[in-house]
Amino acid sequence: MDNPYVAALEVAHRQALHWVGSLDTRAVPPQATTAEIAEALGAELPEQPSPPEDVVTLLAEAGEQGLTAMPAGRFFGFVIGGTHPAAMAADWLVSAWDQNSALRDVTPAHTAVEDITATWLLDLLGLPPESAVGFVTGGTMANFTGLATGRDAVLRSVGWDVVQHGLAGGPRVRVLVGAERHDTVDLALRYLGLGAPEPVAVDDQGRLTPGALAAALETGGGAPTLVVLQAGNVHSGAFDPFEEAVDIAHRHGAWVHVDGAFGLWAAAAAARRHLMVGCESADSWATDAHKTLNVPYDSGLAIVRDPAALQASMGAEGAYLLRDATCQPLDKVPELSRRGRALPVWAVLRSLGRSGVADLVERLCDHASTFARELGRMPGVEVLNDVVFTQVCASFGSDERTQEVVQRLLADGTTWMTGSTWHGRRVLRISVSNWSTTEDDVARSLDAVRRVVADLERPARSHPR
Ligand SMILES: *Cc1c(COP(=O)(O)O)cnc(C)c1O
Repeated sequence: MDNPYVAALEVAHRQALHWVGSLDTRAVPPQATTAEIAEALGAELPEQPSPPEDVVTLLAEAGEQGLTAMPAGRFFGFVIGGTHPAAMAADWLVSAWDQNSALRDVTPAHTAVEDITATWLLDLLGLPPESAVGFVTGGTMANFTGLATGRDAVLRSVGWDVVQHGLAGGPRVRVLVGAERHDTVDLALRYLGLGAPEPVAVDDQGRLTPGALAAALETGGGAPTLVVLQAGNVHSGAFDPFEEAVDIAHRHGAWVHVDGAFGLWAAAAAARRHLMVGCESADSWATDAHKTLNVPYDSGLAIVRDPAALQASMGAEGAYLLRDATCQPLDKVPELSRRGRALPVWAVLRSLGRSGVADLVERLCDHASTFARELGRMPGVEVLNDVVFTQVCASFGSDERTQEVVQRLLADGTTWMTGSTWHGRRVLRISVSNWSTTEDDVARSLDAVRRVVADLERPARSHPR
């Protein structure tokens, strides 16, 4: 029998190369609406089968105009990395190999890669080498996993077993978070039955204030407590003062979790490592591989200092699972079945090496500094944050004028930067997260901003978004 995969994979290969080859020149925003794409795809479920290669062709041709060039070097919205070629190619293999990665002995190739990758990650991120690394879907689930482990550990320490008894009737867990934590921390706490956290005051860069944390902990009366710190504020890029904050939290017996979805990678670059001092003393950490490391979706990392604590919270038993007492991949994540998520992470680390990861992080930061410097030179433009990492927030005067710049930049299409509100002001927010962004991409994007600002003085045209 002919290999039934050949035709469809050849189409996918050709179309994928066409897409990535177009990124440098195409407009960043989508060029068609959802309704137009749905129309081109055909909304009706077909009665009859059709060849896989025809389906992939239809998807690629009908879908292309509806794509945002998120992997392009001129995309600076949200915090979205691109995809390194080694990671993308390895991710194709993940689909072809189709390994269920729950158990160690069933797929030695995946297990070996996961073990090696975990060791490399802890080394690069400067975290305790004994820590366990769970390969989850993203920052949200990495926060969930770390906080679930912390919740169970602090309750265990006061004699309450969540695994046996659940939460009802047990002691209430206090959760203290910086006032500018990411919303997904609240989301994870909601999933965990912990309710809304208590915000702790932050400074002008969004960094948690150690004095305020100490004062909040003094009022705790010894309640089991979680403290959530942040490596990388999504507006300012700022890092919490870990050394002091972790020490204060630990003196009160709290579990410290760090949300470092994009910022934890500062540890991998010598010039940024000072931002992370003391972070390694926390109890659990969350980061993404699909942001700063430029692995395709979806890829997050849940890291816990005490592997037994992680296994106590995430481990699964089942008579049919071919397992012994060894910690299995499934014991480190919420999911049972999952794809070989460690492979693309391994591939990008193997391809970049230690110096390549450091260069990647440093380059993103350098581009952010260039944006801040050049924006600061434009008349009427104010950069609102100290640019210590990859994030830049700029105001163009009034909120209305800033919003107008955001809208017109999207209509221009050269670059994609999102609007946001920070400390009560509308801002244009720039996040540099893509390995492929060049100085030329930054220059073209800055030209677009200059063009739009110059244009503001003229009467408004109508624009689609
Ligand atoms: C992106 C982000 C998250 C959420 O991560 P996902 O991968 O989108 O689930 C959490 N915290 C911070 C600081 C982030 O930037």
